[in-house]
Amino acid sequence: MIPAPFTYHRPKTLGAALRLLQTLGSVARVLAGGQSLLPMMKLRLAAPAHLIDIGRIAALRRIRAGGGRLRIGALATHSMIESVPAVRRWVPVLAETASTIGDLQVRNLGTMGGAAVHADPAADYPATLLALDAEFVLQGPDGARIVPASEFFQGLMATALRPDELLIEISLPTAQRVGAAYMKMPNPASGFALAGVAASVALDGDGRCRHVRVGITGVASAAYRARHVEQALLGQEPTDEVLAAASAAAADGVDASADLHASAEYRRHLARVLTRRALAAARDRRRSGKQGLPSS
Ligand SMILES: Cc1cc2nc3c(=O)[nH]c(=O)nc-3n(C[C@H](O)[C@H](O)[C@H](O)COP(=O)(O)OP(=O)(O)OC[C@H]3O[C@@H](n4cnc5c(N)ncnc54)[C@H](O)[C@@H]3O)c2cc1C
Repeated sequence: MIPAPFTYHRPKTLGAALRLLQTLGSVARVLAGGQSLLPMMKLRLAAPAHLIDIGRIAALRRIRAGGGRLRIGALATHSMIESVPAVRRWVPVLAETASTIGDLQVRNLGTMGGAAVHADPAADYPATLLALDAEFVLQGPDGARIVPASEFFQGLMATALRPDELLIEISLPTAQRVGAAYMKMPNPASGFALAGVAASVALDGDGRCRHVRVGITGVASAAYRARHVEQALLGQEPTDEVLAAASAAAADGVDASADLHASAEYRRHLARVLTRRALAAARDRRRSGKQGLPSS
């Protein structure tokens, strides 16, 4: 289908983009890689009167490490996340996650910022961003504010971003010595996650869990942290038996989604199985120091 008519704007600077967003208000939408917004417009699920294309704002594409954090500009594409040495070195599980997204064309055009703001319930990054304690830098008329991942994803395609704000960058801690892994059961047609689980684990000197994060996508209307699993593992030696017992709670209290691709019970089952596998891989990677990077 053909989208409804719209006016196209292509600001060259961040300031100009923010001014446009504030002047045009809620009838405007930001365009990044277009991999989610354009299909929605063609289906007439979205009909913005104005498109603000931020794709030429080079400052939003930068990836920088420093001060104990890796800062990834909102316009970094999935292919960049998969291949840039700084990401592969500091947060290899994010490169692993990006490598599972869609196909090469989608990865070359789609951006991490666009995927995060779109907040599709089956998108891959939200699980990993939750497991890595990512922070989102949102800029609006009154300056920038920082929102932790646990507060950013709020519901079905709903985030903490306000209509007059831009997502500028996503930052991740680099100091934590964690092992991490992302495991996913993809929809064979689209690649989206029927269920996807990211786990990160840090061990103390006795080999017990001193830090655990589990982020789960695809299962409910929004990605969530499996806090019951995290709490059950703290202070425990992560044997296979202990991980299996804790993972049984991966979908506890969660209103699992059902659609033509999978029943709610199947999604809950996937959450438990993938949580166990992701935790075991994260543990093994922490112990061996090998992070299981995708080939670039
Ligand atoms: C065939 C196909 C297969 C796919 N498979 C997968 C998959 O397996 N896993 C997966 O996770 N995803 C998948 N996707 C989705 C893909 O990851 C998209 O790239 C992503 O969801 C959107 O990123 P984008 O840069 O294209 O954003 P756009 O489509 O340009 O924008 C998406 C939304 O975010 C807003 N937005 C974008 N950037 C900003 C910003 N900086 N600040 C404020 N608002 C912003 C836009 O206004 C819009 O509402 C697939 C897409 C396609 C077409």
